[in-house]
Amino acid sequence: MSFSSLGLSVSVVKAVEALQYTAPTPIQLAAIPEVLKGKDVLGIAQTGSGKTAAYALPILDKTQTNRAFRNRYVKTLVLVPTRELALQVSEVFLSFSAHIPIKMKTLAVYGGVSINPQMMKLQGTDILVATPGRLLDLVESKAVHLSEVDTLVLDEADKMLNMGFEEEMRQILSLLPKQRQNLLFSATLDQKVKAIHDSLLRDPVTVEV
Ligand code: AMP
Repeated sequence: MSFSSLGLSVSVVKAVEALQYTAPTPIQLAAIPEVLKGKDVLGIAQTGSGKTAAYALPILDKTQTNRAFRNRYVKTLVLVPTRELALQVSEVFLSFSAHIPIKMKTLAVYGGVSINPQMMKLQGTDILVATPGRLLDLVESKAVHLSEVDTLVLDEADKMLNMGFEEEMRQILSLLPKQRQNLLFSATLDQKVKAIHDSLLRDPVTVEV
């Protein structure tokens, strides 16, 4: 199986080839066609499985197809538990975006560093990768508007919940437009993840590797 046979557009496949990914990993094989179809997805996958590209590639594909004009506000929101993962995920989006003709802006925002430089960089962001607490601070200061988010990713949801972010996550979810695609990635499906799964996902496809 090749990346192009999964339904990704030529420019996205070129981005993958430039990174010398030769074949999709199992989570990519299973998730990419479903994300492209617009389905909600529950992905049970560990770090190292290629889960980031499993959602980043089809999201970039859909975003470049749908974007006729520069967006006013963030379209894709990726929530992650830690600063390290925020940086890592935004790097993945950046490296794939480099080969896509329409310029898409990805930004990582996270706590533990001063908020002002992040505020200055936010304008024109298409894809925002954020830790929950810092995102809420930015929303409160009206530096981020969530009213146009059409795709939500919760990455390492189990870790996010175990770190005590449930309240923040629920608050963020309540601020998003109802009509959107939801992608939930977790290494485990414990009770807390199951609860988020049940309240968040609509008619989801489960992919497990
Ligand atoms: P992740 O599970 O998303 O943290 O990815 C783990 C590592 O696998 C990263 O260093 C990726 O660059 C790499 N990777 C992801 N997908 C592929 C692929 N299809 N072929 C080769 N390497 C990949």
